[in-house]
Amino acid sequence: MHSLTLAEIGRALAAKQFSAEELTRHLLDRIARLDPQLNAFISVTEELALGQAQAADARRAAGENGALLGAPIGHKDLFCTQGVLTSCGSKILGNFAAPYDATVVTKLASAGSVTLGKLNMDEFAMGSANESSHYGPVKNPWDASRVPGGSSGGSAAAVAARLLPAATGTDTGGSIRQPAAFTNLTGIKPTYGRVSRWGMIAYASSLDQGGPLARTAEDCALMLGAMAGFDAKDSTSVDQPLDDYLAALGQPLAGLRIGLPVEYFSAGLDARIADAVLACVEELKKLGATVKDISLPNMQHAIPAYYVIAPAEASSNLSRFDGVRFGYRCENPADLTDLYKRSRAEGFGAEVKRRIMVGTYALSAGYYDAYYLKAQKIRRLIKNDFVKAFEEVDLILGPTTPSAAWKLGENSNDPVAEYLQDIYTITANLAGIPGLSMPAGFVDGLPVGVQLLAPYFQEGRLLNVAHQYQQVSDWHKATPAGF
Ligand code: GLN
Repeated sequence: MHSLTLAEIGRALAAKQFSAEELTRHLLDRIARLDPQLNAFISVTEELALGQAQAADARRAAGENGALLGAPIGHKDLFCTQGVLTSCGSKILGNFAAPYDATVVTKLASAGSVTLGKLNMDEFAMGSANESSHYGPVKNPWDASRVPGGSSGGSAAAVAARLLPAATGTDTGGSIRQPAAFTNLTGIKPTYGRVSRWGMIAYASSLDQGGPLARTAEDCALMLGAMAGFDAKDSTSVDQPLDDYLAALGQPLAGLRIGLPVEYFSAGLDARIADAVLACVEELKKLGATVKDISLPNMQHAIPAYYVIAPAEASSNLSRFDGVRFGYRCENPADLTDLYKRSRAEGFGAEVKRRIMVGTYALSAGYYDAYYLKAQKIRRLIKNDFVKAFEEVDLILGPTTPSAAWKLGENSNDPVAEYLQDIYTITANLAGIPGLSMPAGFVDGLPVGVQLLAPYFQEGRLLNVAHQYQQVSDWHKATPAGF
């Protein structure tokens, strides 16, 4: 049962091959046996899951037949789940049971999905390795000595290890696509504003987007169809009709114009990853796509701009964690200032503190123009690069990451080395366009991801191209040994 995709599970449940409760018990058992090797879960919500599974079985028995009715999933631990620990990977929220469900959680639950647990993540979604979590690092199921990527590393590891068929993640600078690439999954970051951020604990509000991680594009289409849509509770949610992502999967690729940015294939990219990406391009050509070189000239400025904007927004968002309103409070504060200072000093980890300091500095009176305003101008240039490129091509393709999964601890003392790994993913967040990563091969036994980028609201195009590729390739079917 655990090797089935979400789409296959939906069909098996409809055909009464097993019940949602049987499936849930089977996966809860796998989580109990196998997760200690991975540390993908912060909480396992057994009682909630069994209740939801029984309710889904009852709805099916009464004649309902939704594709996600009884489908087991997990949520990254920054989606608020009512009455359940929502830690955001941090000690400061280590005792925070959310008083309500995030919109994404509500939507997936009403589609009948079953929540098996809350998934480990970098603290406040800051990181690319899942090593900054207060709950310990997550291991990559393909090689337990390596990172699964971050910040949605728990979601990725759990799905790759077949503990769950799909999970939610969030992507501020690559945190869905990069862990998908490192663990051989498909993951999509939607257009900014397509998925509600209400109840999703904020890191950098102008960049954060929720999305799914799963094994196939078809499963991502199923999940995204249930997660996305206008939400009046999120002022940045876009009021535009939702495409039928499953229906989008049938389009032939004949005539699809793909652009390969020259900047993506230059120094810094592992040559074996470049070969895997170009082999994928050849397959897409066989399906009828045409390919040309394009340029995204401002890409080189993306990392410095992002690492000003994201910390600036984070420093503001994280000011609410003060030891009074949420979560952790220090012991025996001498006065109010001591309470603020020590609650934050004891509650936040090193990377979060680093970002708060960088962000506060960049926003301070004497430096605002030099850093924050400059970064915002670069952001506009990057957006313009994409708008121009999409006048000539329908889709942009390149590697998701410059290297495959690195060793645990390899970059943990060198934050800048880790920031540089985000080079290919960050631009999509700065511009707000959708991006997808899909499996495209292996280097030394480690998965390689190809990234597809499309114009605003063309999630259907991304999912269709990935789906067509997955009809003629088997990379996404590979399973890590022992799982
Ligand atoms: N690695 C990037 C960061 O640390 C992206 C994280 C994310 O997308 N949440 O900010």
